[in-house]
Amino acid sequence: MHLKLKSLFTMLGAFTNYLKKHNYMRFDLKAVLFDMDGVLYDSMKWHAKSWKETMDEFGISSTPEEFYLYEGMVGRTTINLLMNREKGREATPDEIEKIYKRKTELFTKYNDGSLIPYAYDFVKKVRDTGLKCMIVTGSGQPTLINKVEHNFPGLFDVKSMVTAFDVKHGKPHPEPYLMGLKKAGNLNPNQAIVIENAPRGVEAAVAADLFTIAINTGPIEDKVLWDAGANIVLPSMKALYDNWEKYYAELTK
Ligand code: CA
Repeated sequence: MHLKLKSLFTMLGAFTNYLKKHNYMRFDLKAVLFDMDGVLYDSMKWHAKSWKETMDEFGISSTPEEFYLYEGMVGRTTINLLMNREKGREATPDEIEKIYKRKTELFTKYNDGSLIPYAYDFVKKVRDTGLKCMIVTGSGQPTLINKVEHNFPGLFDVKSMVTAFDVKHGKPHPEPYLMGLKKAGNLNPNQAIVIENAPRGVEAAVAADLFTIAINTGPIEDKVLWDAGANIVLPSMKALYDNWEKYYAELTK
């Protein structure tokens, strides 16, 4: 079969497979839930650099690449994971605070605020169809709302954003996305879809029973995102922008 045609069939299968698996007759799309780092903002490289340098300062060995695998988890979980592996014990609350504070300091210094190419155009396109656009992030940056309003003016429902401050459990736990459905107006899983870029984030969305499109904007292999349970994996935000009309037709038929 022609390759392009084959990938179209695989794509369409993703929607029917989801409906069958979750016993839904159809989608009833009301909202798109967006992860933030690596989906809207091209910030993951700065997160990885800041984590690596912070860990070096605290004498905990790590690689910059591994932080892409932990992306989406809250800071204390990442810190404890490395502390257990490298020192064989949990981090103390004081250590967690100091390490996370230093990491945030470095990230603020390095982050240039640049957007993922086509992120603005895609969100605008989705918003123009009348769908609610929401952010569900593990990030706890204090200036988040201002930043989002500056880069995506009027496009996101910033009052109902889900951040690190709103949840007890971070991704890969489903709580952030379940909270997103609630804040979007007590939606059912078939009334929203998720755009994610990280394996832990995909796991969280899938655990919340949501149809999940992964865009691979980092250095990890596509396979990691498929294995995490993504319904569709795309190489970029541009690919999602280009394919949206086809997906929208499936989501609204
Ligand atoms: Ca992310």
